[in-house]
Amino acid sequence: MIGRLSRLNFRHDFIVASFGVGEMARPGRPLVEFVMDRLSAKERSHQMSLVKSKNTGLELTVRKLIFSMGHRYRIHGAGLPGKPDLVFARKKKVIFVHGCFWHRHKDCKKATTPASNTEYWLPKFARTVERDRKVLESLLQHRWKPLVVWECELKDMTALADKLRAFLND
Ligand SMILES: [Zn+2]
Repeated sequence: MIGRLSRLNFRHDFIVASFGVGEMARPGRPLVEFVMDRLSAKERSHQMSLVKSKNTGLELTVRKLIFSMGHRYRIHGAGLPGKPDLVFARKKKVIFVHGCFWHRHKDCKKATTPASNTEYWLPKFARTVERDRKVLESLLQHRWKPLVVWECELKDMTALADKLRAFLND
């Protein structure tokens, strides 16, 4: 079991860090989901925590881009709803970098739904979407301006830079 899990860890690291969830997929089926469908609930939970921490690769890319645009920020805004990935305190703006699969990016081809274990995945997805919705609502109530950067937007860094510039200079 230990051998099997460490192999899985390696696959996760590789897929998520190098390609993003879903890109190194068999036709129609991201490998990461294929693997996770075959894990017990406890193993899945462990694997998911790994995937979530690997998601910071996306965050790092966005941080570097924003830094190169001359903006300075704090990270992981403790004390703010949802602990935003980037906090621009004086502007009262925050940015979240979301993986398309976990956060269910609407109409995005990365937001696939695993074919099996739907009784596990669907409630999990619903909870994430609801939590994200509440976080944005709460920030707005406190007069913070939130922006979500989606994983798939990192494919076009020029367009992403335009979006960030518009948001931060507004
Ligand atoms: Zn997307």
